Amino acid sequence: MTSTLAPAKIASLIEEIYQEHKHLADGDLASYIPELGNVDPRGFAISVTTVDGQIVTAGDQDRLFTIQSISKPFVFGLALETHGLDHVRSRVNVEPTGEAFHSMIRLDESSKRPPNPLVNSGAIAMTSLIKGGSPAAGQTSLKHMYELYTGRVLDMDAAVYESEKATGHRNRAIAHLMLHFGMVEPQIEETVDLYFRQCSFNVNASDLSTMAATLANKGVNPLTGNRAIAEPYVKSLLTLMLTCGLYTYAGEWAFNVGLPAKSGVSGGILAAVPGKMGIGVYSPLVDKQGNSVRGVRVFKDLERALNLHIFN
Ligand code: GLU
Repeated sequence: MTSTLAPAKIASLIEEIYQEHKHLADGDLASYIPELGNVDPRGFAISVTTVDGQIVTAGDQDRLFTIQSISKPFVFGLALETHGLDHVRSRVNVEPTGEAFHSMIRLDESSKRPPNPLVNSGAIAMTSLIKGGSPAAGQTSLKHMYELYTGRVLDMDAAVYESEKATGHRNRAIAHLMLHFGMVEPQIEETVDLYFRQCSFNVNASDLSTMAATLANKGVNPLTGNRAIAEPYVKSLLTLMLTCGLYTYAGEWAFNVGLPAKSGVSGGILAAVPGKMGIGVYSPLVDKQGNSVRGVRVFKDLERALNLHIFN
């Protein structure tokens, strides 16, 4: 595939793939956050943003959904920019786990670090590094960071935030265990509150493709020309996305699709094709591992059609 693949060609390809999977209804809504159980299961959108700033979409482009775990690599990036690699690495490892995103962590035996920034334990450790002094101030920092990647003003979904705040005791337990080992700052309730806020920002499929395109474009948003993250950190995010981005499907994903990516339980998946494009897919019916069923299929089809695997 070349970087000059015409947007019109991508547009007809994603429309074809969209039509092919439009009626697929396998999977379930992730209802462990009660409010996520109320979304329309039929939502489906595919979006591509090229590194020269063109967007093509198919499906429900305007449909908003909460970003959930797709926030994690980006918050890791903000922690890196704020504190530098050495300090961040003192709080988190970079090993894939093969365990569910919310598993009751195995901290590293000697260092006590959580496994990586894309599972909940490591993600909460990263959230605790976001400066602000209060969840509301931290939320402002996160909003600014997300908007550099999307080039668009974002809002938080208050109902999803409240729903997770009322029920997210497992994440609180994970945070308390890490506090015991000094891996998070002492203000546990504030940190977990900010983590719930970070997961509750509303995005659409084109926001996902543009966030991914920004990483594919060495950290510069191709729509706005603004830098979202310093270039040396881009490879840190992409590496973790390739090795840990799709929950317990990460190995299969790297093998079959071969793109740095991140999924979330609300049904989004984004992936970066370095130097070429970002791709975002939304469909809220997820499989047992927490990945969007139609999302994974769309990426497999796109990989086949465009030869996207980074080792091709
Ligand atoms: N807010 C969700 C949680 O921590 C994010 C889960 C996800 O998308 O993986 O449970």
